[in-house]
Amino acid sequence: MKKTEHLSKIKRMRTWANWNMVIGILLMYAGYGFYSGFLGSLFEKSVLFMTIMLLIGFVLMMVSTVLFMVSGMVSTTSAQVECPKCKKVTKMLGKEDACMFCGQPLQLEEESRPDRGIEKTT
Ligand SMILES: [Zn+2]
Repeated sequence: MKKTEHLSKIKRMRTWANWNMVIGILLMYAGYGFYSGFLGSLFEKSVLFMTIMLLIGFVLMMVSTVLFMVSGMVSTTSAQVECPKCKKVTKMLGKEDACMFCGQPLQLEEESRPDRGIEKTT
């Protein structure tokens, strides 16, 4: 997986959040569209179907909101390194990540971030 996908984790999270948002909106729209008969008569006037669609869409949008928040929070605390390939300053999550700009795989040395050495489980 690491060899095929050279996307930084923050970027991947934002992509996920983006798609969740899009799918959530589409599901809610489809739920309403089916209910009103706009998208066909299969589920016309089916309140249950529309409710399910609206709920799934709402949950997806909440998930994407949380993902956006998390990606925003971790990007402020993650280590900043200069990419050896494109010389831009990129952010890293964990010990292995990829450059946000060119996708260059990066590895972080242990000694460069002693404050992250101990995993806290609180
Ligand atoms: Zn780069």
